[in-house]
Amino acid sequence: MKGKVYLVGAGPGDPELLTLKALRLLRSADVVLHDALVSDEILELALPHGQLIDVGKRVGHHRCTQAEINRQMIESARWANVVVRLKGGDPLIFGRVAEEMAALRQAGVEFEIVPGITAATAAAAQARIPLTNRESASCMTLITAQAAAGKPAVDFASVAATASTVAIYMPGGSYSEIGRQMIAAGVAPETCCLLVSNACRKNQQLQWTDLRSLRSITPPESPALLIVGEVTRCRDESAASTLLQSHNEIVWAISHVAPE
Ligand code: SAH
Repeated sequence: MKGKVYLVGAGPGDPELLTLKALRLLRSADVVLHDALVSDEILELALPHGQLIDVGKRVGHHRCTQAEINRQMIESARWANVVVRLKGGDPLIFGRVAEEMAALRQAGVEFEIVPGITAATAAAAQARIPLTNRESASCMTLITAQAAAGKPAVDFASVAATASTVAIYMPGGSYSEIGRQMIAAGVAPETCCLLVSNACRKNQQLQWTDLRSLRSITPPESPALLIVGEVTRCRDESAASTLLQSHNEIVWAISHVAPE
């Protein structure tokens, strides 16, 4: 094998939230295989000279199967020096990275993981929510509403018993069901929740509600994240109007980080 595969976190969408390492790799990559979640602004920074391949899996439209993505990574490493597998947020959080690492190990391809900012911390930063406030939240749990095929669905009773802040990834359309199950598991119906759609993107939306009212909300645009817990009670409306810097400023700043 000629090349090395980098499993890189692209963060939530704002290019300024990329790590310098992610940016350097994007700018020197021969191939970038990216997810649907990666923002256009970030893709524009990739590969002055390389190849960009969309391997995004979208709900209901499986553009590429996981096996196909694994195959493309391994094939690319046969001829390219730097292969970037670019994933939304952090690659180790709900990113199917276990399958990709297993495939790379089996094929004898060298790889490295470059962490990124995950949706929960990005969304909390935008809403100014202290996720582990020591007054009210000593434990935080990240869960997904979408269980893997053949695996049991989320055990809300054990989540409710241990976690004081719960970040729910991939809520899909199941807000009402999540609210119902958490209340049935013993969480107070008036527990405050925050829904953040498109965190750190130009079309970001923040919506505060409570568990009981989840059944009547209009589901926000995807990607969206639901944070449940007392910490979301601190409601800072001014946070919602925080705008991203203009694209030109971002490109200026980033163009001063030279590829290796
Ligand atoms: N690895 C990613 C998560 C992938 S699962 C991470 O660390 O963030 C995909 C889910 O992440 C989405 O359904 C949504 O719940 C959440 N997500 C990712 N990017 C987001 C964004 N910019 N705003 C809100 N939620 C986001």
